[in-house]
Amino acid sequence: MNPDKPFILAGVMGWPVAHSRSPAIHNHWIREHGLNGSYVLLPVQPERLGDAMRGLRALGFAGCNLTIPHKVAAMALVDRVDPLAQRIGAINTVVVQTDGTLAGYNTDAFGYIQSLLDARPDWRADAGPVTVLGAGGAARAILVALAERGAKEIRLCNRSLDKAQALAAEFGAPIRALPWEEREQALEGCALLVNTTSLGMKGQPALEISLDALPPHAMVSDIIYVPLETELLAAARARGLVAVDGLGMLLNQARPAFEHWFGVMPALTPELRHMVEATL
Ligand code: NAP
Repeated sequence: MNPDKPFILAGVMGWPVAHSRSPAIHNHWIREHGLNGSYVLLPVQPERLGDAMRGLRALGFAGCNLTIPHKVAAMALVDRVDPLAQRIGAINTVVVQTDGTLAGYNTDAFGYIQSLLDARPDWRADAGPVTVLGAGGAARAILVALAERGAKEIRLCNRSLDKAQALAAEFGAPIRALPWEEREQALEGCALLVNTTSLGMKGQPALEISLDALPPHAMVSDIIYVPLETELLAAARARGLVAVDGLGMLLNQARPAFEHWFGVMPALTPELRHMVEATL
C-alpha cells in the first residue's frame, strides 16, 4: 500500500449478492494498478436500498455497482441519471460526486458492444439485420446499445409477444417485435443473433433454435456465462460462425465503473479472464 495515495472504497449492492464476481474483478484491477482501495460485497435488502445508498458518502465510498434486484429501484434514489441509463431504464453504477450527490450510470450497453468488438474488431451494428431473443431486463440494455451503434433493423422475438411489442413501442425504429414461433425465420439474412433469454443457462431449459437460416458471415452472441459455452454457441462454432460468450459483457461492463471511481480505465487481460473463468 502506498500511504501517499488516497484509499478508495467501492462495492456491489445486491440481494443476494454472495455469488457476484465483481469483487474478484475490481480487486484484481486495484492490485494491477497499485492503488489503495477495496471493492466489497454489500448485501442490501430491497427495503433498505435508500438507506444504504444515502450511506455511501458517509462511509467514504466512491460509489457502487447495483445488481439484482436493485437496478430499476435505484434510479429514483440518485440525484442524476445519465441519459443512456435513462433510456435503458436501469442503473448498474453509482458515483458519489465531489459535492456528495449521487450520479447513476448504466455500463451494460458499453460492456455488450465491447464484447462484440473484442471478438471481431471490425464489427459494425449496421452490417445487417440483428435478431434479439428475449425482452427482459438485460435485453433493454442490449437493444439500446445496438440502436445507438446504428443497427438498421432489430428483430425482437420473445415468448411473451406483448413484452416485445411494448419494447418496440417504447424504443421505436429499428425494433420490430416478432412472435417466439418465428425466431428461425427471423435469422434470414441476419448479421448477428443475440440470446438474452435465460434459456440455455445452467438449470434452465435448452434454447431450441436451428441456425440453418443464418448466413455464413453472421455472428452469434449469448449473454449467458454459466455455462460459458452454451449449446447455442457450440452450434454456431460448429457452423464456422464467430461465437461470443457472456463473460466478455460481464468483464467489460466493469471497466467504465472502475474508471469512474479509481480514475483509470482498466484493461481486460487474458489473465483476468482466466481468473474469473475458474470461478464459473
Ligand atoms: P429476465 O428479465 O428475467 O428476462 C428473461 C427472459 O428470458 C425473458 O425474455 C423471458 O421471456 C425469457 N424466458 C425465460 N424462460 C423462457 C422460456 N422457457 N421460453 C422462452 N423464453 C423464456 O432476465 P434478464 O435479467 O434479462 O437475464 C437474462 C439472462 O441474461 C440471464 O441468463 C442472465 O444471467 C444473463 N445476463 C448476463 C449478463 C452479462 O453480463 N453477461 C448481464 C445480465 C444478464 P418472457 O418475457 O416471456 O418471460
